[in-house]
Amino acid sequence: MNLKEHRASRAMPERPEAAIGDKRPGFPVRLSPNAGVPSASKRSLGSNASDVFKPQPLKRAVQGLQKPLPAGVGLDSQTVRSRMVDKLAKQGVQDAAVLAAMGQVERHRFVDTALANQAYEDTSLPIGLGQTISKPNVVARMLELLREGKGEKLGRVLEIGTGCGYQAAVLSHLASEVYSIERLRGLHEKARENLRHFRLANVHLLFGDGMEGFAKGAPYAAIIAAAGGEAIPPAWIDQLAVGGRLVAPMQTASGQQALVVIDKTDEGIRQTVLEAVHFVPLKSGTN
Ligand code: SAH
Repeated sequence: MNLKEHRASRAMPERPEAAIGDKRPGFPVRLSPNAGVPSASKRSLGSNASDVFKPQPLKRAVQGLQKPLPAGVGLDSQTVRSRMVDKLAKQGVQDAAVLAAMGQVERHRFVDTALANQAYEDTSLPIGLGQTISKPNVVARMLELLREGKGEKLGRVLEIGTGCGYQAAVLSHLASEVYSIERLRGLHEKARENLRHFRLANVHLLFGDGMEGFAKGAPYAAIIAAAGGEAIPPAWIDQLAVGGRLVAPMQTASGQQALVVIDKTDEGIRQTVLEAVHFVPLKSGTN
């Protein structure tokens, strides 16, 4: 159920059938001190549901906009990104090229203005159409895995799930060419708009079903997916170069999603299952 549906159902009277026949209160109406507080039955929807009603992040974002940040720490400043990079390094990200790329790309340009103040926090954020931009920590971890053992820049890279285009922008600093596919037209267009500012000549945005990969750009030195399915689509393995690596979320035997690394070698395919993750589902077709 999305946020709008929650709000609509909260606006409904408790007993809609009683609202018509009931006596209307006289004036002045005495408001109970608990007016506006969700009733116990509403609160008993569960902790997640009651969290949805709290307009916390928006409130914080608006407060942030009202109080301008001190000089030198505005979102355009390198300082906020350096702080994010320091945190990533403390969390265990070691690849200097990944840290440098993350320090370069202005993440706040990829989210709604109301959420921009949270852009450098280690959190995933909504980007529209029910999708999310991954946490900086997850982006860095996946890019580090993608580059593991490769000293210099990657060659051609295929990204499945462009979303808002943030990860494609980071990748553009780590690869010679980036082919990024998105199945939702609205997001494909949003990413195009977001990326215009950066003028990244080596990022190619494609609209289509990424489960089929993009054969014209194959073979790829690396493939990275930002959406997880029940299995790795065979097209991705076919389009991966020998010596190449694929990093993607995938549903494992336990039903949980985990990060999977696939190496394509002369001897065949090697698959490694890593930590649990929470990505949006990989879906077929376009919309
Ligand atoms: N890397 C993105 C994360 C976006 S979330 C960013 O930085 O913003 C994952 C995206 O994968 C969603 O936009 C979703 O629509 C997309 N997706 C899911 N299945 C897909 C498929 N088969 N082909 C292409 N994109 C897909």
